Amino acid sequence: MAPQLLDGRKAAEAWRKEIFDQVQAMIAAGHRPPALTAVRIGEDPASALYVKNKMKAAQSVGFHFDELTLPADVSQQQAEDAIRGLNDDPLVDGYILQLPIPDHLDLESLILSFSARKDADGFHPLNIGRLFREHPEAILPATPQGILRLLDHYHIEVEGKHCVVVGRSFIVGKPMAMLLQRKKGRPGNATVTLTHSRTPDIARFTRQADILIVAVGRPHWLDGEMIKEGSVIIDVGIHRVQSARGPRWTGDVDFASAAPKARWITPVPGGIGPMTVASLLWNVLLIARRRRGL
Ligand code: NAP
Repeated sequence: MAPQLLDGRKAAEAWRKEIFDQVQAMIAAGHRPPALTAVRIGEDPASALYVKNKMKAAQSVGFHFDELTLPADVSQQQAEDAIRGLNDDPLVDGYILQLPIPDHLDLESLILSFSARKDADGFHPLNIGRLFREHPEAILPATPQGILRLLDHYHIEVEGKHCVVVGRSFIVGKPMAMLLQRKKGRPGNATVTLTHSRTPDIARFTRQADILIVAVGRPHWLDGEMIKEGSVIIDVGIHRVQSARGPRWTGDVDFASAAPKARWITPVPGGIGPMTVASLLWNVLLIARRRRGL
């Protein structure tokens, strides 16, 4: 059977429409629209592009958007003070810190200066603890939340399935594994295997997956030999590579060999990327609703 595409662009468009409608309802009820600030440190061109894309997405759903740019040589104290300024600013609902940050800064301390209530990426330990405890007010990390939404959009059942996650980053792999096995939320109740670079004979696990989530950060790392016939393949990776026809985007999965065996598969680009951005907007909407007592 030909694989079906999990079209992240379409699913994200539907999600953004839902967010837009809720923003309109919020404004009609006399409230300010949600306000998102992106904090960027230094002049990394990729970070500038990511922030620009988030700005466009935020404005497309009717949010107010600001960018706070700090110089590459900002001190730890100055960066933390800038974040505390956002914590105290009543007009800012949520903010994100665009990664990576310069090496001289301590990310852990910066995150501790976040207000957990405005932490739109769900990085603060309180939000991670709440995710772990399945607290309803946890702000969930954007990419894993976007993946769950994509599965849900295509009515792919997760409960009772064996999900294998490759990669254990704090942004993707670990929270993904935690969310897939959650008891109360939906989608959830999967049996999860979390694998990483020290997992021996990793294909032994990937071949058992009903749903395989690959967040390894290596182009074409997974091929068709490593997957089970009829499985669902989620490719989180995003890489700009050179090809005979010039530069192009590709993922952690070798689409050409994996797609013929898969039942469902995400394309790159157009899979998890748009869902991650929509997921961030969703978090800001939830924060804004909470702050307005809605
Ligand atoms: P990361 O922090 O570099 O983590 C990569 C993980 O993969 C690590 O846990 C690492 O294991 C594991 N790994 C590396 N090589 C491996 C191998 N040969 N076999 C098995 N496991 C291996 O990356 P990340 O932040 O999770 O991101 C992963 C990819 O997703 C990147 O391409 C990133 O650009 C992309 N991404 C895309 C989006 C989006 O919106 N589309 C969002 C976030 C990330 P160890 O822990 O043992 O080192």
